[in-house]
Amino acid sequence: MKTVLRFLAPWLVACAIMLPAHAGPGTASHAPEETDVVIVGAGLAGMTAAYRLRQAGLSVVVLEASDHLGGRMRSASYPEGVGAEAGLEEFWNNNPTIGLIEELGLQTEGAATAFSSFIHKGRFYPAVQDTNEAFVAATLGPREHARFKAWDKRMQGHYARLEDAWRRNAPVPADLARLQELSFADWLQRKSGLSPLAIALIRAETEPEYGTGADRISALDGIAEWHIFSGAGVGSRHIVGGNQKLAEALAARIGETAVRTGHQVTRIAQDVASGTVEVMALRTRDYAMQHFRARHVVTTMPLFRLHEVQVVPPLSPVIQQAIGTQSWGAYFTAHIVLDRKASRFWTRDGDPVLPILTGGPLGVIYGGHDLVEEPGHTLLNLLVTGDDAERFNARTGSLDDVRREIAAALDKLWPGIGKETRYMNFVRYHPRAIPAWPVGRSRYDAMSRAVREPQGRLYLAGDFTESSHSDGAAWSAIRVVRQICAREGKVAPRMMPEDQ
Ligand SMILES: Cc1cc2nc3c(=O)[nH]c(=O)nc-3n(C[C@H](O)[C@H](O)[C@H](O)COP(=O)(O)OP(=O)(O)OC[C@H]3O[C@@H](n4cnc5c(N)ncnc54)[C@H](O)[C@@H]3O)c2cc1C
Repeated sequence: MKTVLRFLAPWLVACAIMLPAHAGPGTASHAPEETDVVIVGAGLAGMTAAYRLRQAGLSVVVLEASDHLGGRMRSASYPEGVGAEAGLEEFWNNNPTIGLIEELGLQTEGAATAFSSFIHKGRFYPAVQDTNEAFVAATLGPREHARFKAWDKRMQGHYARLEDAWRRNAPVPADLARLQELSFADWLQRKSGLSPLAIALIRAETEPEYGTGADRISALDGIAEWHIFSGAGVGSRHIVGGNQKLAEALAARIGETAVRTGHQVTRIAQDVASGTVEVMALRTRDYAMQHFRARHVVTTMPLFRLHEVQVVPPLSPVIQQAIGTQSWGAYFTAHIVLDRKASRFWTRDGDPVLPILTGGPLGVIYGGHDLVEEPGHTLLNLLVTGDDAERFNARTGSLDDVRREIAAALDKLWPGIGKETRYMNFVRYHPRAIPAWPVGRSRYDAMSRAVREPQGRLYLAGDFTESSHSDGAAWSAIRVVRQICAREGKVAPRMMPEDQ
């Protein structure tokens, strides 16, 4: 017996060392959970892709680091019976998500015109007209309006060629590709022939879209951004009760057990020989590592967060360079709860003149939403963008200073409003809120096209792979669903009106 014990002792000690401090729910499971596709992130891109892949007959598991479904779709509610978006504000009508929202039977409300009221050199230009054209005609003089219309027509031609190349993931024509090296601001100044007011209008309307100045993005991306406002403009929709309802509706279709919140993916390793991908995720409830095995893995987190995940084999140098050279795109959200009486400040002839593009520290002023009938309060939702957002988001800054600056700017715009203000609440998006490509890069260049190609069985999706807003998230989901279905020999579900 003694001999047996002497023989077993070292092995027992080794086993004791290898055993976790406590067994049970905290223990990593040894057999990986198998599924066709693992999706990292339960934002718009991840949830859309999961829903469509399920429709194609594939099994999916969505792993989401936070406890929240929807990613940057976040709808906040306040005890005063008012609410507002703390993330995605509106879906432009050319966003494929509009079709998805209709398919899911969600109710929307919206604006018919793309242009918003704006402030330039202290003057207020209200967008109270019924059409985009009427607003531009009311804002610009007759001669500058004629020049604007000719310029806009040229922009439509450029955009049609760009979109054609982008849809085919092909290089853009050389004459347009050159515009990547020039800033949108310089191009407008030197080549557009437009008046200073027309240029100010274009900058005021588009800069909040890319979250930085027109001097920081290329003329090529500027053409892409402008198309929302071009001609009749595209209008926008918002989901009644908050955009977050979309994530909830998708989760209900995907299936509760397939969507795992509190699962932070830390490692994605491809095994070329077996054609599988192993995914490790930290379950934040008990810090137990969860192990998954799939034939395909889709990441949808903003690209700059990919460095938090160990990717084996590593992403190619060109993709790492693409991620490292994407910058700008800053937002900071300020919700201001006010006494109901304050709405007189932004009401004209009984109608609100919101949203207002202030071009300053107040950013874009949106209205909030009533969550109960006739609440005693109202809410302003400020989407601060560009350099002001960079400043407000800075780690060294103080939110007290931000509050004072916003209060002073509001009081300058609407003297007396301070008396009606109850409190402010801030949501920071640090370091980046939305994708933007600096001058010298664009969503159309070879690096961006490389990002959109499958990396073996790993697919990079999310808005940062496609375009500056949530349409990019939607398009990226459509792309990866098509790529995976093609490789699996499955028919991709109908995702666009033109699909059979
Ligand atoms: C304030 C604000 C206002 C906006 N307004 C508009 C607008 O009006 N119109 C518009 O079209 N777009 C708007 N956008 C942009 C829009 O919100 C985004 O384009 C869209 O929501 C991006 O979706 P996504 O799925 O690509 O990424 P996300 O929503 O960021 O989803 C990615 C998910 O991945 C998760 N994740 C990250 N790392 C890990 C990990 N390691 N493991 C597991 N999960 C992980 C994240 O928690 C997140 O839930 C706005 C954005 C902000 C911030």
